[in-house]
Amino acid sequence: MQEKLRQTKKYAEFEAVPAIKAKDIGFDRSMIGAYGQDDRICAFAELKAFLKITNSYKTAVGFFFDKEEIGSEGNSGAKSKFLESFFSDIISLNSKSFNEKILRDSIMNSMALSADVNAAIDPNFKDVYEKMNGAKLGHGICITKFTGARGKSGASDASAEFVGMIRKLFNENNIVWQTGELGKVDQGGGGTIAKYFAEYGMDILDCGPGILSMHSPFEISSKADVYMTYKGYLSFIKFR
Ligand SMILES: [Zn+2]
Repeated sequence: MQEKLRQTKKYAEFEAVPAIKAKDIGFDRSMIGAYGQDDRICAFAELKAFLKITNSYKTAVGFFFDKEEIGSEGNSGAKSKFLESFFSDIISLNSKSFNEKILRDSIMNSMALSADVNAAIDPNFKDVYEKMNGAKLGHGICITKFTGARGKSGASDASAEFVGMIRKLFNENNIVWQTGELGKVDQGGGGTIAKYFAEYGMDILDCGPGILSMHSPFEISSKADVYMTYKGYLSFIKFR
């Protein structure tokens, strides 16, 4: 029955990427150097957290979206209406009285963490970061309240209440966390998938490890931060 709801689409793309193997970095091997950690480390932490749980109090769903780096375009990106279709399926399977209002309310009443990296302060390019507001490698999972460029243009900006709720959750679960912006105003900036979910009224917050040399062939992350990211996502999935 479920299979008949919608025909399954299958896609495959062939991509050429740097063949450099992941390496331990630093005197104490505390960091990982590898290609494409933005956003494979977030997808890894998310999947690892989902594989850890056997049941959850609330319905927990992990989405893995394609095309984030080109602006979430295309029918496999977060800009597509996939979210609505997915919620429609879940509601239809659980209740006979499906309507547009139930769909909208279900999405609006959901909460999400947008698993994406933040730009950690790079000591070699200090002038493009704000020392007081930037994420630091090895200082835990980074909460990014707002994204965007030239201030908050094109941003997703989480509510103070939702940020407070996640901070409390992390504190209660002994998760080392920090906050971060995406570089200096007019120098840095960026976006994630968060704003496409926020459009529905859903509470969503960007949250993930800081990274050095973002979008280069050899990005650097902290093992401790990736571990805290996994723990952070796990605490969110288990949230009651
Ligand atoms: Zn990126």
